[in-house]
Amino acid sequence: MFLDRDGTINIDRHYLSDPAKLEFYPGVGPALRRLMDAGFLLFVVTNQSGIGRGYYTEADMHAVNDRMVALLAADGVAFEKIYFSPEAPEQPSPNRKPSPRSLLDARDEFGVDLSRSFMVGDKLIDVDTGRNAGCAASLLVRTGYGAETERKDAAKLAGAVVVDDLPGAVAWILAR
Ligand SMILES: [Mg+2]
Repeated sequence: MFLDRDGTINIDRHYLSDPAKLEFYPGVGPALRRLMDAGFLLFVVTNQSGIGRGYYTEADMHAVNDRMVALLAADGVAFEKIYFSPEAPEQPSPNRKPSPRSLLDARDEFGVDLSRSFMVGDKLIDVDTGRNAGCAASLLVRTGYGAETERKDAAKLAGAVVVDDLPGAVAWILAR
């Protein structure tokens, strides 16, 4: 299970760099735990262009990630790995979404079967990442930029599953 971070797990604060401002959408922790109980490994795949743009440091991002990990651990949630791409959009990057590189790395490192995996996010790049990696399905949440994406890019979302939020995505996956 591959998860975008900002706008999907937590409220998108636009270049979030302060761990104190990390805030989850409702129900995220228990929903992720249900996925684990169903046998899914959890990975976060996040573009962090704020580092490449010089808005915050890689250490700032790790501090936010560490707080996310610590808070979700209270719900019994554990991520196998957090993949991040620090480059600004105009900089060359092997991993930056919609590149499937991080998902391919997870396949190689953790033996993940991508054809039985899912990518969830709030932007078209997240949907495209899942497509590019050969995931079973890409899901767009309406949180973050998702509702706007659904409105503006409807034609590009063909085949993607649109759900209200991350718990909705989990419910869809587990009911499949
Ligand atoms: Mg996002």
